Amino acid sequence: MTGGSGRQAGRGRTSARRASAIPETTWRRLVAAARRARARAYAPYSRFQVGAALLTDDGTVFVGANVENSSFGLTICAERAAVVSAVANGYRRFRALALVAGRGEPASPCGACRQVLHEFAPDLPIRLVSADGRTRDVRLGELLPLGFGHRDLKRG
Ligand SMILES: [Zn+2]
Repeated sequence: MTGGSGRQAGRGRTSARRASAIPETTWRRLVAAARRARARAYAPYSRFQVGAALLTDDGTVFVGANVENSSFGLTICAERAAVVSAVANGYRRFRALALVAGRGEPASPCGACRQVLHEFAPDLPIRLVSADGRTRDVRLGELLPLGFGHRDLKRG
């Protein structure tokens, strides 16, 4: 991993350069959608609001926000909400994910969300953005190397 805190515009670092296959205008559109979704998050317990925007292969964007529950274990993350919405609408091919959460160093997806994203896009470009504007570009393959997949099932 190559560090990566602070503002940057999608170039300069190795992982950022690879993620720049997604045009900067597209990233801006995704981040704006994720910010809007974050504003709709239901997070009365943690107060940690998260918004996600998932880009499909035809350019359609699906958003998700975290939805907490008084039975804490039932909380749904923004990333998984976006994936479920996309799949329910007939999409399974994804090109990029923007995630907006927290302040300071941008937050990254939890382990469960990494695995769910891996099912559909094992090397998905991801832009992590904090509420105060720090950005970090990563790929899912960096966050979840050797993720479990359908090929592993065939080896059972
Ligand atoms: Zn998660």
